[in-house]
Amino acid sequence: MTRICKNCEYINQDDYDFCAKCGTPLVEGLKPRQVYIYKPEQLQINKKALVAAYIITIFLSWIGVIVGLLSKHTNLAVFTFFGFFMPFYLVQSRHPTLRKHGIIMMIISLAGVALSFYIMLH
Ligand SMILES: [Zn+2]
Repeated sequence: MTRICKNCEYINQDDYDFCAKCGTPLVEGLKPRQVYIYKPEQLQINKKALVAAYIITIFLSWIGVIVGLLSKHTNLAVFTFFGFFMPFYLVQSRHPTLRKHGIIMMIISLAGVALSFYIMLH
């Protein structure tokens, strides 16, 4: 004998109290079980958002370098610190791929900050 889910019509084994597919109780009187299995590797990465994050990071981190090269007497290099915003957010992600991109962006930012300060101080 099998237990057919009233919600999704999935055929469950008869010793199951909850639907294996959607978690709906298969026995009267049981409260729905809320199962959220967190699998970070299954999360979809929004590639457009990732590209945007790279552009923002590069723009913010390297604007100080460009401005510094164009005009030696500026303290705009300070703005390069805003470039850390995106990578700082990404390295805290639970998604390993996003963390990896966060670290790459962090390196881009660090290089931009270092270079803009070098230009500013020389
Ligand atoms: Zn179901």
